[in-house]
Amino acid sequence: MLQNHQDIWKSCLVFIKDNIQPQAYKTWFEPINPVNIEDNVLSIEVPSKFFYEWLEEHYVSLLKVALKREVGESARLVYVIKMSSAQTQAEHTEQIPSSNKFRVQPQEVDVPIYKRDPSLRNPFVIPGIRNIKIDSQLNNTYTFNGFIEGESNRLARSAGMAVANKPGGTSFNPFLIFGGVGLGKTHLAHAIGIDIKEKYPEKTVLYISAEKFTQQYIDSVKNNTRNDFIHFYQLIDVLIIDDVQFLAGKSGTQDVFFHIFNHLHQNGKQVILTSDKAPVDMQDIEQRLLSRFKWGLSAELQSPNYDTRIAILKHKIFKDGVDIPEEIIEYVAKHVKTNVRELEGAIISLIAQASFNKKDITIELVRVVVDKFVKNTKKEVSIDYIQKMVANYFEMDLETLQSKTRKRHIVQARQLAMYFSKKYTKASLASIGSHIGKRDHATVLHACRTVENLSDTDKQFKKYIEDLNKKFV
Ligand code: ADP
Ligand code: MG
Repeated sequence: MLQNHQDIWKSCLVFIKDNIQPQAYKTWFEPINPVNIEDNVLSIEVPSKFFYEWLEEHYVSLLKVALKREVGESARLVYVIKMSSAQTQAEHTEQIPSSNKFRVQPQEVDVPIYKRDPSLRNPFVIPGIRNIKIDSQLNNTYTFNGFIEGESNRLARSAGMAVANKPGGTSFNPFLIFGGVGLGKTHLAHAIGIDIKEKYPEKTVLYISAEKFTQQYIDSVKNNTRNDFIHFYQLIDVLIIDDVQFLAGKSGTQDVFFHIFNHLHQNGKQVILTSDKAPVDMQDIEQRLLSRFKWGLSAELQSPNYDTRIAILKHKIFKDGVDIPEEIIEYVAKHVKTNVRELEGAIISLIAQASFNKKDITIELVRVVVDKFVKNTKKEVSIDYIQKMVANYFEMDLETLQSKTRKRHIVQARQLAMYFSKKYTKASLASIGSHIGKRDHATVLHACRTVENLSDTDKQFKKYIEDLNKKFV
């Protein structure tokens, strides 16, 4: 019976597919490529070392049965791990029936970087400590105690406490906190992390913004350390990623996060996410990631009502040790309604005004301050901010965006940065040009016209403009 590797693998897949969840099949078996068969040894190519480890840990018996059915008792399996640059072979050295584990010849397997030298390359690892210690990056002022409860946040707050009591052990995994800007997503996410660290000091907790995560990922690709990046994140017991909406449109980062997420989730690790939108409203996030966001619990933070605003203000004032008359507090709570950050901002500038100008905090003063404050909250954007956002959006670094290359997608990114700088800053064409890769004013003018033309004719391009626009208004 002479069969080629493709046919054998195909038949194995039919059997495997029958025996596991469709999602698991898709995730773990569809990406595999059969390479060859020789002397009853089937070689399969897997995308990463992590992938191979996963198969070994979870699906080795299934693979064994499947392969034996096709090839017979003497069947063996060899993994070929596809690395970004080179290929490494990880071979099991015994026959499948004898053990459930495929043993790996050690010299052939890449040792994860964190085992080699804990101080190397990883920004979170503190050098000189034997065990792996990871700085959680938590802000210790963002505690549960400081997170005032109100109707607008009751569910999210108590679910967050449940998660903190039993990280990875509730059905709130992932736990997604969503809501508008300044409503306390970051604060609550930190509070959970801080509480877990107190209750479970042995657990590794890590807080990171999705933006920083993306940047690290881009760097890791550039430096050829993508695997180290993945391994690092797979070590975490409680991973908190803030503002995941930032991953929109970044398919590379989404992909790597998808793998990290799977690993953590399937190992009972807790994942906590925040986002400015509910999963159903997230755009440009891949379906497979979205479906995972929905596995756990999504809890919304809403705008605080009047009573909660009063309570938050009082808490803040008490913490700062100042004395402010009740009617002033009420005035602020009545007029600053949109979110907690603005509420805090208003009270801080009120206190500052009063102490700098040695004035009493009177209702007249509060009127002036709040009035000004409510009007001035629209944020200013700079050329550098715009460039950075555009570069991030297209998953390139700033140097690439500014470089002299004529590659179309880079040129377009550069033109978009110029266009938005014209639109949202008061800078002159010349000044925009000199900021964005030392171009002259004519180039900027040309860029603005090109963007306008393309937005009329190119649907994809129009989408870029719309997406980016949201980041600046
Ligand atoms: P988001 O991440 O949703 O934009 P933040 O978590 O940064 O919002 O919150 C903005 C500010 O408001 C922070 O200083 C935070 O401490 C404060 N804040 C938000 N919600 C509450 C709350 N319920 N009690 C006390 N402070 C709050
Ligand atoms: Mg935040």
